Amino acid sequence: MQEIVIISGKGGTGKTSLVAAFAQLSKTELVVADCDVDAADLYLLMHPDFRLEQAFLSGEKAQLDQNGCDQCGLCQAACRFEAIELRAEQYTINALDCEGCGYCARVCPTGAISMVEQKAGDWYRSTTRFGGAMVHARLGIAAENSGKLVSLVKNEARKLAQRKGLETILVDGSPGIGCPVISSLSGADLAILVTEPTISGFHDLKRVRRLVEKFHIRIGCIINKFDLNPEITDQIQDWLDRESISLVARLPYSDVFTEAMTRGQTAIEYSNGTLSQSIRNSWDAILQLNNER
Ligand code: SF4
Ligand code: SF4
Repeated sequence: MQEIVIISGKGGTGKTSLVAAFAQLSKTELVVADCDVDAADLYLLMHPDFRLEQAFLSGEKAQLDQNGCDQCGLCQAACRFEAIELRAEQYTINALDCEGCGYCARVCPTGAISMVEQKAGDWYRSTTRFGGAMVHARLGIAAENSGKLVSLVKNEARKLAQRKGLETILVDGSPGIGCPVISSLSGADLAILVTEPTISGFHDLKRVRRLVEKFHIRIGCIINKFDLNPEITDQIQDWLDRESISLVARLPYSDVFTEAMTRGQTAIEYSNGTLSQSIRNSWDAILQLNNER
């Protein structure tokens, strides 16, 4: 089994649009894992059928049973996060302020406080219109632990690939360099870094490269919208050479990405022009790079 992860140091580089197009282009069925759980929007292009839905439980919060409370106030004194207030003569826990440390439950003499596991989102197993399968998720509003949810998505994608006898997992990774990206990269065989020729794009490309090199995996790079700033594109290419990173493709700026997205289509479905051909070539180059292992 092989895992190809598409990531970007910053958002808005076209990473997700490319993943959807690659999933469509693949001649063999694969499992697509949407690990961009904080802003999961790959489903808008893949149109999965949400065949299985499961709650993602993560973290605990304190819950106070008023019937068991004798109003001693010990819990309020113990809480370092000021999550417990005396309101209308009742001790009350503000769930938004509760950090789930459990200290209040330990000091409560009557056992009126219990720690309750929280639903932090949902994850799904689907089939898509491109064949193969998809594992995806949605993190709840203000929910934490996106790295843990990404791990869950990846593990479920692996199990699904094994069960269906599919050889490739294509991962839409999270942007940035935090825990979700580390989880996206864990166990990967090839990382494709998608960037754009802007100062912030180049800066974030270098940061994510520093992260990826710790995983000792093969790396390729796609420069999207390369013609928007030829000077920075040249700088990026020079840097890729120095870092021994394969330049997989340079994609021209095109409204096709946006127009296709507004119609819920991939770029290659929407248009058969220059951009679509470049995307086809990119996918071939990625497969070739992957086979060089
Ligand atoms: S679990 Fe910790 S943070 Fe939450 S209310 Fe209790 S003491 Fe405060
Ligand atoms: S420590 Fe327990 S009994 Fe005391 S105020 Fe808090 S919940 Fe009530």
